[in-house]
Amino acid sequence: MRRPLIAGNWKMNKKVGEAIELVAALKRELYDERAAEIVVCPPFTALSPIGEILEGSTIRLGAQDLFWEAEGAYTGEISAAMLRDVGCVFVIIGHSERRRLFGETSETVSRKIAAALSAGLTPIVCVGEALEKREHGVTDEVLRKQMEGAFASCGEGDFLKCAVAYEPVWAIGTGHTATPEQAAAAHTTIRLWARERYQKEAAEKLRILYGGSVTPHNIKELMAREEIDGALVGGASLDADAFCRIVKYNR
Ligand code: PEP
Repeated sequence: MRRPLIAGNWKMNKKVGEAIELVAALKRELYDERAAEIVVCPPFTALSPIGEILEGSTIRLGAQDLFWEAEGAYTGEISAAMLRDVGCVFVIIGHSERRRLFGETSETVSRKIAAALSAGLTPIVCVGEALEKREHGVTDEVLRKQMEGAFASCGEGDFLKCAVAYEPVWAIGTGHTATPEQAAAAHTTIRLWARERYQKEAAEKLRILYGGSVTPHNIKELMAREEIDGALVGGASLDADAFCRIVKYNR
């Protein structure tokens, strides 16, 4: 049985004061929530104070990105050790916005996964097809290629420490959620790939989250599919009430 993982990606939103307000509300509302593992991924500037606030709570801290080098002359970048230092346990890697706007490639995703794992962070690795790829019927090929590239140098022991988020690019921030059937089919492709590349046990343990316009209204039917192990939530994670309702989808 895979424990559901619900992660909020705040993207470039919330100044420190606003971030503290949001996380304080989540802490109040979700203090006894154990069914799902809960993660919030605030912007870098808010990680340190939020790390302190979340100490000892059921909500875990994640970052939205990292750089693969350990330290040095890399202006503007943040290392895995720096993220650990402020309390991060998770890190999102290869989000489609980073691939599309900031030149992230399979090669950089793979290096970032290795850096995260060596510092003890759990990577949430994002994959997903653009609309024209879906329309051309090549979604499976795109997903397999992205998985291949991301995990090119990742052994089975390390793969067991990762989560994957299936995020169809056409569903992110658009209000067009994939149907539970579309999401389940993509998740099956990802798990089949993992089964071919690693042992069956590692593939079965992998948590595959769905991301793309998840709301309190559609979470229940998405999570009803046994192929879907959680959600990566963008817009709706910026509102305490909406995110709490998503986390408590089963109540
Ligand atoms: C995301 O950015 O990971 C995401 C899924 O965004 P949204 O929920 O807003 O579509």
